[in-house]
Formats: sequence, structure tokens, C-alpha cells
Amino acid sequence: MTSKINDYRLDGIYRQRQEGFFMQRVKLPVGVISSVQARGVASIAKTFGQGTIHLTTRGSMEIHWLREEDLPLVKRELGKVGLTSRGACGGAVRGIVCGAQGSDKFPALETIARRLQRHFTGNPRFEHQPKKFKIGIEADITSGRHLIQDVGLVLTRIEEESCRYDIWIAGGLGREPQAGFLLAKDIDERRIIPLIEAIVTVYASHAPAGKRLKHVAREIGEETLRRKIFAEPCAQEELPPIISLPESLLPPPANRQQFEVRVFAGLLASDDLRLLADFADFRADGALRVTADQNLAFVLAERIDGATAKMELEATGFKWTSQPANIEFRVCPGCHECLAGLAPTRDIAKTIQEAVGAEGSQLTWAISGCPNSCTQPQLAGAGIVTSRLVTGEDGNKEPRFDLFRNTGTGLGEKVGELLTIGELQEAVRRIG
Ligand code: SF4
Repeated sequence: MTSKINDYRLDGIYRQRQEGFFMQRVKLPVGVISSVQARGVASIAKTFGQGTIHLTTRGSMEIHWLREEDLPLVKRELGKVGLTSRGACGGAVRGIVCGAQGSDKFPALETIARRLQRHFTGNPRFEHQPKKFKIGIEADITSGRHLIQDVGLVLTRIEEESCRYDIWIAGGLGREPQAGFLLAKDIDERRIIPLIEAIVTVYASHAPAGKRLKHVAREIGEETLRRKIFAEPCAQEELPPIISLPESLLPPPANRQQFEVRVFAGLLASDDLRLLADFADFRADGALRVTADQNLAFVLAERIDGATAKMELEATGFKWTSQPANIEFRVCPGCHECLAGLAPTRDIAKTIQEAVGAEGSQLTWAISGCPNSCTQPQLAGAGIVTSRLVTGEDGNKEPRFDLFRNTGTGLGEKVGELLTIGELQEAVRRIG
């Protein structure tokens, strides 16, 4: 049974906390999905799940509450709309993410993301890695997200035939957060795929099972890791120029307004997703984006403004998902569904929002249900990590929380450790 479960992981499936149920993660390159595909996901969630979709901070969609016997059907239904879940979980090159979806450079970033996803997804050379391998692409370094990837590409220049990128490697969060380091500057796009192949090869041959690239960097040192990567034959390779039309599903954002539907905790009803897909057909060239804050965003067709779009959406019967106050709060499924979850994250997020004052409401917030830190709390203005369970006075297990504050450009600093829920609320009130 164990090996079968591991096989499921490479198909993007995790067992859920509730016995007999599974979660299917769907890989969306840099969070982009067409309206046809979104309707496909909505239909799967409604038919096989419980009619909800979870939007992740890495731009994926997750469908919970699937039965084992339905998993092959779900895969087939995803395939019918051109979606893949291969490598969305387990030891594989995961979905490519981008925190710069609103940038006017986004079409170039989406194009390289699609090429990378096509190259690494389902390629047996790059599966069965010691652990997950994450790639992120950014327009600049302001979000800090390039620091938490196994490979973080930061665009430096767009040229006629290709783009150039700085390459950061060996970052990651989890129990031992570590900022990535700069491996190489201003690398031509034609070298990116071979160079990432070299990085994955060194990772696979040096990391013990269950460890990320950041562990290798810690063990052998940044300079030795750099030397080993550049000693790989493919590290110097340059592929022929890619002659192709742009691959972006989204139109260039110039002269168009962008519009975002906020989704509390990334939890979206399948009927709402279907309505939003219809709206995208009507007003946004048939494409949607899952944002790094677990919302859905659109590039509106020319001459449509955000206020008009909002009215039109409401006229279709769309009910705005409740987002208490105006706080951007990234929330993982926690112990509502996740096997690793130590706390009911959605409930705690609601409690915390009530405690946040005027100053705190200006920050971005994130809570993770365990130290894996899937919502990237160390990059939020205020981040909460459920660090462990302890036995309370009544003999029941209670979660304890670490609180992080981030006021700069790197990873946040821990300002509270092993807090009870009451202490956490008090610490949040003190933020203002
Ligand atoms: S942070 Fe932990 S509880 Fe939350 S989704 Fe990730 S693994 Fe699950």
C-alpha cells in the first residue's frame, strides 16, 4: 500500500486527513488557467469532491474529498481539458510559480514557465527526487519569493530573441527556513533548461531522501555546490533559440485594467469558479490567474474597467466570498483536511482577523497549519506557523504557534515562540 500511495504522489495526490479521502493538486503554470479548464476543474470538484476548490499560494488548484476509485476518472477529466497533475506532489519538479503576475513583463515569464513545465513534467529523468524541487520566476527581487525556491529565476533583461535571468538557488522554508543564494548572474534563457538540469542532477546525487537542495548547500557549502553544478557537462550548454509565437494565455496587460476576486483562505465553491470562468470568457479573454495570495485575478478586455466588471459579475449572481475586514490572509487547509495539519487554520485566521487593529490590517498575513509553511508565513508582513502540539492541562493536545514579522526584503524574523492561541491573539493586538 505504501508504494501505491507514493505513486499517487507523483500524480499530484495526497491522502487526506480523513480516512478514505484524497486530495488532487492540479499544476497550473504560473497560476494561469483558461476558462475552459476552470470549468473542467469546477465540474470535477462538483462531481467527485464536495464542490469546493482550494487555491494555493503556489498558483495550483486542489480538489479535496475524492474517493480512491474516482482518481483515474479525475485524471482523465483533467486530461480532457489539457491539465496535468503530474509532479504536483512528491519528489518531482513541482508547478512553476510567479509572484509577478501583475507585471507588464508577465507574458515573457509565463512563456518560459510553460517551457520549463513542459520539459520537466512527467520526465522520468527528473522524477523520484529526494524531495520536492520548486522553481519560481520573478520580474524583480521585491517580493523575496526568489529566496524560497530551489531555483528562483529573476528577470534581468528582455531581448529580441530571448530573455536573461539571475539564478538563485537552495532556498526554502519548512522547519529550517533558509534564504537562497545567487548562483549565476544575467544568464541567457537558452542556458536555463540545461543549467536547471545540472542543478537537479547534483541535488539528486547529493541529497539524502527527504531533504531539499538547501540541505546540500548547508552540508557541502555554497561554493562547493556551485563548483559541482558548473562541473556538470550540461551546465555550459546553450540550446538553439526558440522560434515560436508567444505562449502566454494572457494578453499583455498594457492599456488593460486588472481585476481581482478575493477568496478567503483560498476556498472557492465550484459554482463560483464556473461563474468566474464564464465571466473570463465574457470580459477577460478567457483566462484567469490564481494569485500568490490565493485569489483569482483577470486581465480585463480593453475598455472594461474594474468597477464595471464588478457590477457585471454581481449581475450574474456571483456572491463575493466573505473576506472579513480588508485583510489579505494566506491560509493553508491545516487540520481541516491536511494529514500534516496541527491546527484548524481557517478558524484561527478568522479569530486573528478579529484581533487585528488598524496598523495590522495594512500588513499581509499568513498562517500555516504545520512547520512546512506552505503559505510562506516568513514572507508575510505577519506570519503564523503552527509549530507543534503540546498536551494541555486537561490532557488534550493543543497547538502552539510561532509568530514572524517581516519588515525588510529577506525572510521574516521570529518574534514569538510556542504561543498559545490566547497569547497569539494578544501578540496580534499589540501589532495594532
Ligand atoms: S503547512 Fe502543513 S498543514 Fe498546511 S498545507 Fe502545508 S503541510 Fe498541510
